[in-house]
Amino acid sequence: MRKDARRADTVRPKTHVPRKRFGQNFLTDQSVITAIARAIAPSASDNMIEIGPGQGALTDALFESGCAINAIEIDRDLQSQLRVMFFNRDFTLHNADALQFDFNALSKSPGDLRIVGNLPYNISTPLIFKLLSHLSVIKDMHFMLQKEVVDRLTAEPGNKTWSRMSVMTQIDCTVEHLFDVPPEAFYPPPKVQSAIVRLAPRVERYRPECPRVQLSSLVQQAFSQRRKTLRNNLKGVIDESEIEALGIDPSCRAETLSLDQLVDLALHH
Ligand code: SAM
Repeated sequence: MRKDARRADTVRPKTHVPRKRFGQNFLTDQSVITAIARAIAPSASDNMIEIGPGQGALTDALFESGCAINAIEIDRDLQSQLRVMFFNRDFTLHNADALQFDFNALSKSPGDLRIVGNLPYNISTPLIFKLLSHLSVIKDMHFMLQKEVVDRLTAEPGNKTWSRMSVMTQIDCTVEHLFDVPPEAFYPPPKVQSAIVRLAPRVERYRPECPRVQLSSLVQQAFSQRRKTLRNNLKGVIDESEIEALGIDPSCRAETLSLDQLVDLALHH
């Protein structure tokens, strides 16, 4: 009997072993999955893009609306499982790296992409920066991120989480922290708290006279050494007298500056 039981074990189809290098922490808590899908509220006509569908937990909940989903998954081993799961849905699976993926190619009308994902934490920052440069094809984005990253996205000036990421996101998007998700909602549980964030491109372009590349480079310079004064961080970039002429105290730290003050500085960069 025991021998047979062992044999039965060995012929059981292999279940997927979560891969650390792909940041695989799969959502298992159905109430959290339902809450995310409700917050996204897809409709049947939506052009949904899911980054990293994994084992399809969130994908399945989104499909209840009858929407079409393009999913981008890097792990080949998850492909057949996903294709079987959603064979009767409007499901297109791209075996690709989201960081290299051409999101514009999925757009059928201006600003139609609704991007979602429980993002692998190791690629979330570069991926958000990449998507910020494709906002003309995006309607909104809902992401599960490390709570620390959500804190940076939603930060306000004067706060120590106010950073280049806060500035570059908030100038072009409205940002909402929706809710936190504890490690127990995943398998395997991550070591950190997570949170869901909604990003939506601003309806009207804010401070359109400021080239974003210029702002990004100024902010990078201004925040390069957080403990140092603006005068020091911008040495050789903007004269102290020019900083003063903008009504900004050169002895302050960049983290105390508002979005508009940073834009003013960038325009003198
Ligand atoms: N959506 C699933 C869930 O909520 O259970 C899985 C989320 S898991 C945190 C991240 C997923 O992104 C994994 O399926 C992983 O293989 C995939 N992934 C990791 N790096 C990726 C990349 N560069 N491009 C596309 N997918 C990636």
